[in-house]
Amino acid sequence: MQLRIGNGYDIHRLVPGRPLILGGQRLEHPAGLGLDGHSDADVLVHAVMDALLGALSLGDIGLYFPPDDARWQGADSLELLEQVVALVMERGWSVVNLDTVVVAERPKLKPHIAAMRAAIASHMGLDPGQVGVKATTNEQLGAEGREEGISCHAVALLQKP
Ligand code: MG
Repeated sequence: MQLRIGNGYDIHRLVPGRPLILGGQRLEHPAGLGLDGHSDADVLVHAVMDALLGALSLGDIGLYFPPDDARWQGADSLELLEQVVALVMERGWSVVNLDTVVVAERPKLKPHIAAMRAAIASHMGLDPGQVGVKATTNEQLGAEGREEGISCHAVALLQKP
């Protein structure tokens, strides 16, 4: 059996007048902020996609879904994730597990973690037990701590028989 590991990272700005979508869930930010971006700006799903692509040295999501391409404007990132999973599977690989950390001061993500894991798992054909989603604040330090943005780190392990 062959194994490959990949990591992904993404950050999007928090701005007024945009929805806050994380792991396919629409959340309410206490200050009414949402994530800016060309697609739905789901930073968690973007980091997962980059981890999957990275594991197979297939580049990054900017290559497949360029931000200057009108097709991806307002795109549902979970649908883009399905396309990335298809790239992985058509090469004969499957996902062993994913793990992620979302860095956000607010809102509290804990009540939404189970729904995020379930959504990501269902769009990848996985069991939620294969999808780790964790959340941390940045202790009010740096861009995430000042609520200028929300970032996410992800790792993915792939196997091929
Ligand atoms: Mg992104």
